[in-house]
Amino acid sequence: MKNKVRHVLGISGGKDSAALAIYLFNKYPQLDIEYYTCDTGKELEATYQLIKNLEIYLGKKIILLEAANKSHEDPFDHFLKLYGGYLPSSGSRWCTRKLKLDPFEKWVGDDPVISYVGIRGDESREGYISKKTNIQSIFPFRKNIWSEDVISKLLKNEQISNMANWYALTGAGKLPRILEIVEEPISGKFTQNEKLDALLDLDTRAFNQMVFEYLKTTHYPLSNCNEFELTDNEEVLIREDIFRVLRDSGVGVPQYYEKVSFEVNGQKGEYARSRSGCYFCFFQQKIEWVWLYEQHPEKFKLAMEYEKDGYTWMQDERLEDIIRPDRIRQIKEDQIKKASKANNKKSSYLIDILDESDGEGCASCFI
Ligand code: SF4
Repeated sequence: MKNKVRHVLGISGGKDSAALAIYLFNKYPQLDIEYYTCDTGKELEATYQLIKNLEIYLGKKIILLEAANKSHEDPFDHFLKLYGGYLPSSGSRWCTRKLKLDPFEKWVGDDPVISYVGIRGDESREGYISKKTNIQSIFPFRKNIWSEDVISKLLKNEQISNMANWYALTGAGKLPRILEIVEEPISGKFTQNEKLDALLDLDTRAFNQMVFEYLKTTHYPLSNCNEFELTDNEEVLIREDIFRVLRDSGVGVPQYYEKVSFEVNGQKGEYARSRSGCYFCFFQQKIEWVWLYEQHPEKFKLAMEYEKDGYTWMQDERLEDIIRPDRIRQIKEDQIKKASKANNKKSSYLIDILDESDGEGCASCFI
């Protein structure tokens, strides 16, 4: 007997997951999606406001998953104490595991789950997502909506004849050309990514239907479904689409993404915050710390209070050093230089510039 599959979408407080909720709500109203959010207790007010706006738009409660819900402290502070004051960092990201992934995995238990993730079509990463086998991630904003593990198992050379059979079930129009590509083995000259792109470019729907046929033969959660609406998804959404979806819906763009002007040594520049997540997140760049100091001084002061006993948010600099006037000036000048270099390149979005030097963020916090 097939198990009932749950469809879930995590609202991180960032723009991409919010836009994904709106997008799926409008495009696939038949999907019964459970929305959830994991609160760290350390978000900016704009994040909480976004969640309230979304609840109104979706007409549905966004379930609040709180780690350490029996504690009298905020979830972050509770775990920080357990870790002896050891602040998280990109190398030791206990916060994401304890505050986001653990509560999520506990909430879904062993149920088969489809988890929709808002990684955009202009990003090339999977993010930091749950790897439990009963949780299958789907990426509706990308041309390739499937996760890396599904693709690498499916495109193995040993699957070539099976793939041809699964394609035959899809009724694809360009089958002879598709089969030529299917039959070409992956090698040093024809990589997995090239094969994937070639198949997607020829007929995205047929590719998705073929993947769905493959999944029926596996233990992935989608093997429990008779159909999957998103196999018809051919749209790719990039950064500007995300802003459009948020604005058009009336849900709005969180205030911290909006550019704020500054002037330094007679030169004009702009800053903003590039992502959602805790106000003190160690992923933020120096210019974002300056933004926090100048736009939310009370939060900056709180962030400074965490820096004690030798623990700091950044490896190379303490917060009390970053706010010296000469240091702020220097960081702003660097930002102006970076922005002018980026202006000569592709994007006019400030957050593209801020994003550039970031490491891999986590799907649970920033998407
Ligand atoms: S936003 Fe940053 S500090 Fe907060 S839980 Fe996520 S990674 Fe950790």
